[in-house]
Amino acid sequence: MSEELHIDGSEGEGGGQILRTSFALAAHLGRTLRVSKIRAGRPKPGLRRQHLTCVRAIAQLCGGSLRGDDIDSSELFFEPGAVAAGEYHFSVGTAGSACLVFQTVLWPLLFANGDSRVVFEGGTHNPFAPPFDFIERAFLPIVKRMGADVSVHLERPGFMPAGGGRFVAEIAGGCTLSPIDLCETKPIVSRRATALVANLPGTIAIRELREIRNLLQWKNEECLPRVTQDDGGPGNVLLLEVAREDVSEVASVIGIRSLPAEDVAAIGAAAINKYLGGDVPVSECLADQLVIPFALAGGGSYRTSAPSEHTTTNIDVVKRFCDVEITQAEHAAATTLSFSRE
Ligand code: AMP
Repeated sequence: MSEELHIDGSEGEGGGQILRTSFALAAHLGRTLRVSKIRAGRPKPGLRRQHLTCVRAIAQLCGGSLRGDDIDSSELFFEPGAVAAGEYHFSVGTAGSACLVFQTVLWPLLFANGDSRVVFEGGTHNPFAPPFDFIERAFLPIVKRMGADVSVHLERPGFMPAGGGRFVAEIAGGCTLSPIDLCETKPIVSRRATALVANLPGTIAIRELREIRNLLQWKNEECLPRVTQDDGGPGNVLLLEVAREDVSEVASVIGIRSLPAEDVAAIGAAAINKYLGGDVPVSECLADQLVIPFALAGGGSYRTSAPSEHTTTNIDVVKRFCDVEITQAEHAAATTLSFSRE
């Protein structure tokens, strides 16, 4: 048994990411772990369904022993075993984010001795979590460029409150991650607005995209409605993608009942304009999510806006597990994060 590492879940941002990062790295690196004061910084602290699914998934794929895994629990003890590639099925059981479960199990499975096929069920388009499209079109392309062989396929979107979303990931094991640099703001090569509407009138998509054309002057052919009808719950998300030569941003707004379609579009337009106005390649959310792969690669750098609390907290957690030096250099409103082996 390795010496127990204690992570205080109330530090920094105090949310679920501290837990997910700790479990992913503990399984990958074979570290015995205790996490206390889980999500102490959140209005409803302790484990919710999504977090419980993440930690149980990690324990399952490495045959580890886990104690404290109950709803509302604020402390977990974890002793990992050897990670086994294979076929897995992780279901949140509510509309909690299945994308965050994917981002947790990805790291140990990428380095496992063999290939994995994993089915994820739950929410695929949630507030305060990366939507499926962000994973597929912003996050994974970077991880793939670093050397990972992984693909995801959406079978059905899932929204709050019904959930019921489903996607499949194919993850090749035996990965070596290599450092890359994302410091230059390269030219934009394409733009795409997608209004996804599930089990609701298609006019919502038409109105959102009309407003996007008004506000951003994006062309007709850059604006795509995607309307699905099935036996799942209702939902709407507006996705605004800007693809540069080497990195993409996917800004998103989840439509809610009390918010007119035009307001959804206005919030989305403001979000993508904020990213474009920042003149940095890596967006705020992508920046916190790239801390793990860059730390595991032991090198590389990226330029982002002023780091969020998610980013600074994730850096602190990752440094507890990995021998990596992470420096921050600030110029005007931008920050360059550089990674190197200590
Ligand atoms: P936590 O709040 O600690 O559970 O972490 C939430 C994670 O979701 C962080 O990695 C955020 O960057 C990510 N996230 C939240 N909202 C978005 C979004 N709209 N697009 C992409 N990622 C997001």
